Amino acid sequence: KSVAHKICSGQVILDLSSAVKELVENSLDAGASNIEISLKEHGEDFFKVIDNGCGISPDNFQVLAKKYHTSKITYFSDLHCLTTFGFRGEALSSLCSLGSLTVETRTKNEEVGTHLTFDHSGSVIAERKTARQVGTTVSVEKLFSTLPVRSKEFSRNVRREYGKLTTLLNAYAIMAKGVRFLCTNITSKNSKSVVLKTQGNNSVKENVIAVLGLNTFQCLEPLSINVSACCTVEGFLSKPGYGSGRNMGDRQFFYINGRPVDMPKVGKLLNEVYKGSNSKQYPIAIMNFIMPATSYDVNVTPDKRKVFMTDEGSLILSLRAEIEKVYSPHQC
Ligand code: ADP
Ligand code: MG
Repeated sequence: KSVAHKICSGQVILDLSSAVKELVENSLDAGASNIEISLKEHGEDFFKVIDNGCGISPDNFQVLAKKYHTSKITYFSDLHCLTTFGFRGEALSSLCSLGSLTVETRTKNEEVGTHLTFDHSGSVIAERKTARQVGTTVSVEKLFSTLPVRSKEFSRNVRREYGKLTTLLNAYAIMAKGVRFLCTNITSKNSKSVVLKTQGNNSVKENVIAVLGLNTFQCLEPLSINVSACCTVEGFLSKPGYGSGRNMGDRQFFYINGRPVDMPKVGKLLNEVYKGSNSKQYPIAIMNFIMPATSYDVNVTPDKRKVFMTDEGSLILSLRAEIEKVYSPHQC
């Protein structure tokens, strides 16, 4: 049973960035306006996510990290109109099986907070009262320590994992209106660096400036296109001649209805059209696809990064035509 548990967990939590992603999504689901992410040794030793969301009520403590425990889906039909990031109740249970999990939380109905320690099977092994504001802190020590091979691989690739995590946090911070993000990293030499900092602005534009910097923002143009009768794209795209010298995907952010997702085909399309305008660079993009919940499915992979869109082929074609319009008038 425990092996099956570990194998299945591997699918939700693939790496450092998917682990932190799950915690950040929980904080957003809890209505937090302040989310702080602290890493030790780029997340290899320890990471925690602190929020000022609604907190977790004591009746949920025992089942919190049990597989499939979720407070978010009440009816099965909810799966078709997801308004929360989470719905499977797998993240905390997976994290438990992969590292050492502690949770500190308080709702507005409690006078004091509670600190909970879990074992690898998701059971509470210690509970004590603690002073804290309303909200939740979830900490994970030594991710993948229960899977030696994965753990070695993690150590070997920490820098790359860390880069991936930064890009992912940037993606969430850009789209989350009114949510202040702070991410810091502490290394063994006790040097602390700020990875990400936003002010909780109410506009995506201000978030883009906070995340990518004013200089980069000034290379961008607002984007608003109708791709089809039921799909529009809102965001920013770098002006012709401006872009990123690298093609690391770290400056292309794609969303569906505000949910960060991978869109390799759209990334490829952008790069191709942009190249066609005689540039050696890669475009910077922030693109939010707004479409009815019935026209796509994020429930394809456990990490919900891959999406299945109905009519993807024709969507990509007409998007390409629109992007060509953006770039072509400037060609000489
Ligand atoms: P899911 O998000 O799919 O429901 P998780 O395993 O991520 O599953 O979380 C399990 C449950 O724990 C959530 O449904 C929620 O009730 C609670 N929870 C987890 N993190 C937080 C948080 N930061 N604030 C409030 N509740 C939380
Ligand atoms: Mg979740």
